[in-house]
Amino acid sequence: MKVLVIGGGVAGSATAIALHCAGIEAEVYERHPDVADEVGLFLTFAGNGIDALTVLGAADPVEEAAFRTPQMVMQSGTGRLLGSMSNGDASRTIRRADLYRALRDEVVRRGIPIHYGKALVDVDQAANGVRVRFADGTDASGDLLVGADGLHSPTRTAIDPAAPAPRYVPVLNTGGYARGVHVDSEPGTFTMVFGKRAFFGYVPAPNGEVWWFANPPYPTPPSASELADMNAGDAWRRRLLELYADDHTPAVALIEASTNPMTGWATYDLPAVPHWYRGRVVLAGDAAHATSPSSGQGASMAIEDAVVLAKCLRDVPDVSSALAAYVDIRRPRVERIVKVGARTSSMKVAGPVGRVMRDAMMPVFLRMASRMMNTEWMHRYHIDWEEPVTLGG
Ligand SMILES: Cc1cc2nc3c(=O)[nH]c(=O)nc-3n(C[C@H](O)[C@H](O)[C@H](O)COP(=O)(O)OP(=O)(O)OC[C@H]3O[C@@H](n4cnc5c(N)ncnc54)[C@H](O)[C@@H]3O)c2cc1C
Repeated sequence: MKVLVIGGGVAGSATAIALHCAGIEAEVYERHPDVADEVGLFLTFAGNGIDALTVLGAADPVEEAAFRTPQMVMQSGTGRLLGSMSNGDASRTIRRADLYRALRDEVVRRGIPIHYGKALVDVDQAANGVRVRFADGTDASGDLLVGADGLHSPTRTAIDPAAPAPRYVPVLNTGGYARGVHVDSEPGTFTMVFGKRAFFGYVPAPNGEVWWFANPPYPTPPSASELADMNAGDAWRRRLLELYADDHTPAVALIEASTNPMTGWATYDLPAVPHWYRGRVVLAGDAAHATSPSSGQGASMAIEDAVVLAKCLRDVPDVSSALAAYVDIRRPRVERIVKVGARTSSMKVAGPVGRVMRDAMMPVFLRMASRMMNTEWMHRYHIDWEEPVTLGG
């Protein structure tokens, strides 16, 4: 079997590696003309993501570029400690560009071809195969197509033209890297601040930098031109300095000490996609189930998808049953995580009354959460590579 993987991000690279582990031939087609090495900021890998990478024998290069972030502390904007939570010992934080690079290098090391400048524009299915066309006029054929082409996946639309569009989550995302600012926390401990006007998170890195992100509320989806205005010149810095001026946190010092260009993104999730596959075309990663960044699970989910999909194709003799088994295994878990992400995001945008309630309830909620260990199902998930997938099992 030859599999065409569309998208060379987290899900695409992991899928190619997982298929290689299962002895299945794959080729990756990525829209960017070259490797996008400086995309985005940083992300956190939960234990389950690291575990899934370990299954693929691909955890080491990621761990080398990452640092441990096992602990999270919550504060109000007044500086009041609201509680703390464990992220799990295995949790790691990594620059997004380093993650992409590590996964891509692993794909190349295993001799899997990656083609750049290949933007999928059309999918044509026949009984025994699939043929895709790219924007540059070239095409490719294979036995199966995996759409790992992200939140705005053209593959999702090819499977189902009526597929739901991503749902807007009313906070924006931006952040940076500050040097020379002392913060009162250990390297690897995230401090999450429910500020008066906006949420702010920061973590000291072992190299002396403090990595931070900000989530200003924004009630309606910003248009492309609104985002462009926000991203122009020093607009973000000025906006953030105003937003955090009244909070008792290092936010202002961190923003002032960051020299990276500040760019913002709108936030979306994708709660339930009815059709993850049709015929010989299937989705993986954000294309099937984007979760709000607040869950800290999007990349981990993408890697789990890759492992499970490769196992199903390895163990189930016909493609259609293999894809059905993949969706049966993955759907309940990822949809539950998308709900967790949406709930966490909504806590970031409380109004004045909600804020008082949230800050009063948070210590109780966190005590309950840690007593019930209710994130264990998310962080301690393990996929047994050796155990065969059985239908209906
Ligand atoms: C601000 C922010 C913070 C986040 N923080 C975290 C976090 O802390 N922890 C976490 O686990 N997750 C986090 N996430 C989510 C995580 O980044 C995604 O879930 C993850 O990147 C999904 O991987 P993917 O491969 O499905 O999509 P992507 O990484 O988006 O990759 C999709 C790839 O497909 C390519 N592509 C798109 N269209 C085409 C086409 N037509 N033809 C060919 N190629 C195409 C794209 O160029 C891209 O390379 C965050 C997301 C955001 C936006």
